[in-house]
Amino acid sequence: MKIAQRIKTIPPYLFAEIDKKKEEAIKKGVDIINLGIGDPDKPTPNNIIEKLRESVKDPKTHNYPPYAGIADFRHAVSLWYKNRFGVNLDADREVMALIGSKEGIAHIFLAFIDPGDFSLIPDPGYPVYKTGTLFANGFPYIMPLLEENDFLPDLEEIDEEIAQRAKLMFINYPNNPTAAVANKDFFEKVVKFAKKNDILVCHDFAYSEMTFDNYKANSFLEVNGAKEVGIEFHSLSKTYNMTGWRLGFAVGNKEAISALSVIKTNIDSGVFKAIQQAGIEALTGPQDNIEKMNNIYTGRRNVVINGLNKLGWNLKPTKATFYLWIPTLNKMSSVEFSNLLLEKTGIIVTPGIGYGEYGEGYVRIALTVEEKRLEEAMERLKVLKL
Ligand SMILES: *Cc1c(COP(=O)(O)O)cnc(C)c1O
Repeated sequence: MKIAQRIKTIPPYLFAEIDKKKEEAIKKGVDIINLGIGDPDKPTPNNIIEKLRESVKDPKTHNYPPYAGIADFRHAVSLWYKNRFGVNLDADREVMALIGSKEGIAHIFLAFIDPGDFSLIPDPGYPVYKTGTLFANGFPYIMPLLEENDFLPDLEEIDEEIAQRAKLMFINYPNNPTAAVANKDFFEKVVKFAKKNDILVCHDFAYSEMTFDNYKANSFLEVNGAKEVGIEFHSLSKTYNMTGWRLGFAVGNKEAISALSVIKTNIDSGVFKAIQQAGIEALTGPQDNIEKMNNIYTGRRNVVINGLNKLGWNLKPTKATFYLWIPTLNKMSSVEFSNLLLEKTGIIVTPGIGYGEYGEGYVRIALTVEEKRLEEAMERLKVLKL
C-alpha cells in the first residue's frame, strides 16, 4: 500500500496520551467529569424531531435532493438572515445547504487553494482550517490570536507579501476555543484588508446564537462590502442541539458559493430532504429553546468562573459560546496541566495546544455537563491548593 503524502502532512493526534489516561482512570473506577466535549448535552427540541418524523414518511423526501439544498430550505435561511441580521440574501445564488458546516469548511479550500497557495488561519482555531489547507496542498499562514488583542488577529502583523499572495482567510466569532467575540469595527477592517489583497473571507459563525447577558452577535455580512469579499458558514448543530443531524449552510458571495458547489457536486449529493424539512422547522418555528439553552449555559458559566476566581484565577464572564479558555497554573504546558487535572481530580479538559501553537498555556473547558457536576468539579479543584 502506498498511502498519500497528504495523510502524513496532518499533525499527529495530540490527545492520544490524555485519552489513554482517561481509559485507565475509568478502568480504575474514577468518577470522571468530562469537560472536553464540544457537543450540546441536551436533546434537539421536540418540534424539530416531530417534523422529521412527518417528513420521513413522505416518499417525496426519499430521492436525491437538489445539490444546493431544497428551495424551501434556502428560502427559510434567507428569511432567517433578514429577520435576525437585516441581511438580504438571494436564496437561489447566495445560499447553499451543507452536510454540517464542517463539510463546507473543509471543501472551500479545494475551491480556492491551488498547490503552494497561502491561507490565513487563526491560531488557536478549529483544526479543519489548517487541515483543509494542507489537503489542498496549500500553506497555512498563522494569524496568532493573543489575549492582549482580545483574541482578534492583528491584520497589520500579517506579512504583506503573504497577504498579497493569500487566497483565503478564516475568522470565527464567537470563537472556538477562546470564547472571544468580534464587533463590526473589526469586520470592517477585515473587509478592507480583503479588498486590498483580493482575498476571500470565510466567517465561521457556528456560535451566532449562543450568547449571554443580552449580547447579540453580528453577522460579518452586516458590514458594507462584506458580500463582495466573503461568505459565512452556519450550522444548526450548536443553535438547535442538532450536531448528529448534519445540517448547515453557507451564505454570501455568489462566486464563492458557486465555486464551492462545483466541488460539492463532484463529491456529495446533498442533505436528506427530510432533514432539510426539519431544518426549516428549526429556523422558522418557535425559537424559545435558544434562550432556554443560553440561560442554562449562563448558569454553568457562572459556576465555573466564580469557582475558578475563588481559587485564584482572574476570569471575566464570557459573552458567548459554551467554552471557557483558561490559562494553566504556574506556566505549566497545556498537556501537563490537563494530565494533572485528570490525575488529581478526575476532570478532563482539552489542552490548548490541540488548537495550535498559540493555544499553548491554556486549556479549554466545555460547559456541556449539568451545573451540579460543575459544582462538584469546582469542589474537587480545591485540592490544587493555589
Ligand atoms: C462545531 C463547530 C463547527 C461544525 O459544526 P457542524 O456540526 O459541522 O455544523 C464549525 N466550526 C466551529 C468553530 C465549531 O465549533
